[in-house]
Amino acid sequence: MSLDRTSREKLVRALAESIIQHADELTSLDQAIGDGDHGLNMKRGFEAVLATLPGLADKSLPEMLKSIGTTLVMKVGGASGPLVGTFFMELGKALSEQPTRAEFVAATDMAINAVKARGRSEAGQKTLLDVLVPVQAVLAAGGDARAIAVEAAQAADRTTPMLAIRGRASFLGERSIGHMDPGSRSVFLLIGAAAKVLEFEARS
Ligand code: ADP
Ligand code: MG
Repeated sequence: MSLDRTSREKLVRALAESIIQHADELTSLDQAIGDGDHGLNMKRGFEAVLATLPGLADKSLPEMLKSIGTTLVMKVGGASGPLVGTFFMELGKALSEQPTRAEFVAATDMAINAVKARGRSEAGQKTLLDVLVPVQAVLAAGGDARAIAVEAAQAADRTTPMLAIRGRASFLGERSIGHMDPGSRSVFLLIGAAAKVLEFEARS
């Protein structure tokens, strides 16, 4: 996977716009089973990322990802800031400048493990890991951009009937059932945006 400067800038803009344009929807989801700040938290973070362009896209892919992660950790706040920020930072640490698909698969696995460690969480607890983990499995199995985006959407939907075991929604116990996890929705939006720009091809 080789991303030139134009593609790196396109990727950053697509990620940020996917969140900024859906901030109200993310807030509504968090109003149902959290404290209603998720949309604003994520919007603030990605606006801060956009403010680091065009210099951000001058960086190599790994440095750019680390920088996005650092900005998100600093600006998003809440539970999601350190978690989404960690994902970007660790992905940046694990990738080379022109990663192969195999390297990208290994790097996403490492980044997810770092998120798990940071959140003391696992898939199945109604958190953003319930999108990250199954999407990474589709990537590892050779799925193309469409398969990745479809899995992200379906995985976010699958959090609706789940019982929250981590994060603020877990305070609601059984009342967390029947609402989509806001962080999962954000991660779906980010993956959908990235898949479009990166155009993963199926592994032959
Ligand atoms: P806060 O819960 O502090 O208000 P946000 O509303 O910004 O933070 O983010 C909530 C989202 O963070 C949840 O929807 C969930 O996906 C994710 N989350 C919360 N706690 C954890 C955790 N321990 N592990 C993984 N994800 C988590
Ligand atoms: Mg919240």
